[in-house]
Amino acid sequence: MIFGGKISVAKINENFVKMPASYLFAEIGRRVSEYEKNNPSADVIRLGIGDVTLPLPAACVEAMKKAADEMGRAETFRGYPPDYGYDFLREAIKKHDYEARGVQIEADEIFVSDGAKSDSSSIGELFSDDAVLAVCDPVYPVYVDSNAIAGRAGDYEGGKWSRIVYMPCRRENGFLPELPAVHVDMIYLCFPNNPLGVSIPKRELQKWVDFANDTGAVILYDSAYESFITEDDTVHSIFEIKGAETCAIEFRSFSKTAGFTGVRCAYTVIPKSLVRGGVSLHKMWSRRQSTKMNGVSYVTQRAAEAVYSEAGQREVKAHVEYYLENARIIREGLLSAGFEAYGGVNSPYVWMKTPDGVGSWEFFDALLEGCAVVGTPGAGFGAEGEGYFRLTSFGSRENTKRALSRIVDKYGR
Ligand SMILES: *Cc1c(COP(=O)(O)O)cnc(C)c1O
Repeated sequence: MIFGGKISVAKINENFVKMPASYLFAEIGRRVSEYEKNNPSADVIRLGIGDVTLPLPAACVEAMKKAADEMGRAETFRGYPPDYGYDFLREAIKKHDYEARGVQIEADEIFVSDGAKSDSSSIGELFSDDAVLAVCDPVYPVYVDSNAIAGRAGDYEGGKWSRIVYMPCRRENGFLPELPAVHVDMIYLCFPNNPLGVSIPKRELQKWVDFANDTGAVILYDSAYESFITEDDTVHSIFEIKGAETCAIEFRSFSKTAGFTGVRCAYTVIPKSLVRGGVSLHKMWSRRQSTKMNGVSYVTQRAAEAVYSEAGQREVKAHVEYYLENARIIREGLLSAGFEAYGGVNSPYVWMKTPDGVGSWEFFDALLEGCAVVGTPGAGFGAEGEGYFRLTSFGSRENTKRALSRIVDKYGR
């Protein structure tokens, strides 16, 4: 358009221009297709999958069918769902995920949504444009990129954002982050961790809660993998930690727990006692959700409710055990082949050290060429991931076993 002789174009969000291209999975895909082209008879096994593969629990499918029938009858048809979730689901979450663990969370502190990915990115809207965030390195890239889009990350230089506080998670400290030495406003923690596969001991998490209460920071706690926890010295919810109700927000999802990656249902918990600058973050998120969300479909929420039924719990447990057994096979296979391997006990992920200090991508190529096995280079999750590699347990039992026997044959002593 020409206004007053001047050409004017819409001002765009320049933060997108600063962002590096997200090339990790595209690059993996490119290398695998090239390998398959050159080795047409190769039987490639993918242990890089970050998505569940087992079908939905039958209890959830039944609940969805029943809900769909209700939607098809005038007497039981429903229009827009409530912005924050149906009471039947919020009550079920409260009872099974919190009360059962001795945690007092009210149903109206639970916000049902379509995913922990969208919630953990949108949560940044509660903070000022110049709030400082701290993230683990390596990290689930969503936390970083969503804040970069919001203009909170500064400039991208030498593989890092200038205004983000990176907390290295290294072998020397059990892959756990250390408290930041500078002021931060938002602290993203994810346990059991993706991509590291480790959980956080209770005593460690207590330190973070105390730190956040002392400094006024807010912990953004992603516990999408809590159902994989098998050991006692950690928590399923950060609200099991004393004082967390005044400093933490928790993200949970049915995606990995119940195979809902394609169904889409999650929830975020914001206690009413979480207040910063005299303002309730619970009220802010309520306002945000009622403005931007029109709820999650009735059919989906009935499916999520069915996860808590007796049959649902039985099936979900069996699925998680199936993946955990795969994780055990991966972990023990790697150890017996002489690798260093971490995680995989409270998590579907195993984090391994590459042999002889070779780079993550170099090892990716070696594993593909030598074993026709695909994993994920650790460097794709942050600078501290260099020299590491992630394998996942979301494949079939048969493929997991075959992949590991190939690795043991090639690398074992
Ligand atoms: C898979 C995953 C989630 C779940 O995201 P949804 O949007 O609920 O599917 C959340 N956080 C992490 C770290 C994940 O890996």
